[in-house]
Amino acid sequence: SGTLYIVATPIGNLGDISQRAIDTLTQVDIIACEDTRHTKKLLSAFSITNKTFSLHDHNERQKQEYIAKLLSSGKNVALVSDAGTPLISDPGFHIVRFCREHGFNVSPIPGACAAISALSAAGLPTDRFSFEGFLPSKTGARKAILSSLANEARTMVFYDAPRRAIDTVQDIVEVLGGERTIVIARELTKTFETIYSDTASSILAWLSQDPNQLKGEMVLIIEGAPEKEGQLTPEVENTLKLLLNELP
Ligand code: SAM
Repeated sequence: SGTLYIVATPIGNLGDISQRAIDTLTQVDIIACEDTRHTKKLLSAFSITNKTFSLHDHNERQKQEYIAKLLSSGKNVALVSDAGTPLISDPGFHIVRFCREHGFNVSPIPGACAAISALSAAGLPTDRFSFEGFLPSKTGARKAILSSLANEARTMVFYDAPRRAIDTVQDIVEVLGGERTIVIARELTKTFETIYSDTASSILAWLSQDPNQLKGEMVLIIEGAPEKEGQLTPEVENTLKLLLNELP
């Protein structure tokens, strides 16, 4: 049977498409798109004239049978989203799970992802991190998420709309305090790419002064909670002290 290729596309700069992505989108029998009009623009930029059909959050389950039929008859299918890596805050999860459960081959064609790109340039610890997807747009729900993450020690990566950035950072200051380092990575790979880091309260002042920072697309990264002193139980601390004394 055929293969379902999960193809990452650029997050702004068309130069970020990979050769394998171009080859795959050219060679597959059909491309499942989040938005066919959007993807057709990308395809035409690379002179790819392939068939497309739409697969979005609302028809994903209905299209399963169609995709299964294509794959069963030996056809290869590519899945793309509007930008970046499909399934990462984008449609595709149900179809990938369905295909894997039914024994179809699913193969990723890696490429751009806004979360990973932002993280790679943020200057916050990356050894462990937590991708938190989109923050809720309403302040009550947003604060609830933030307070549930108050003790999260890993770097936290969020997607958010820049037009909400002031409200979001205001909530961060209220819930997590003004001292956490925040990184705003806006318009990555595009003309007005800006990566700015400071404490939450300084970021708030910076955003309020510069309306240009409220445009386009952004990733927001929050430094993990500081390790609390005295987090070790007294027994563990004593054992560590004893061990330290044994060191040469
Ligand atoms: N699947 C995509 C990926 O791999 O990054 C993410 C799709 S999600 C619907 C769109 C969100 O990703 C935007 O609201 C923004 O938070 C982030 N994003 C996408 N492109 C970006 C860019 N060029 N710069 C900063 N953030 C971006």
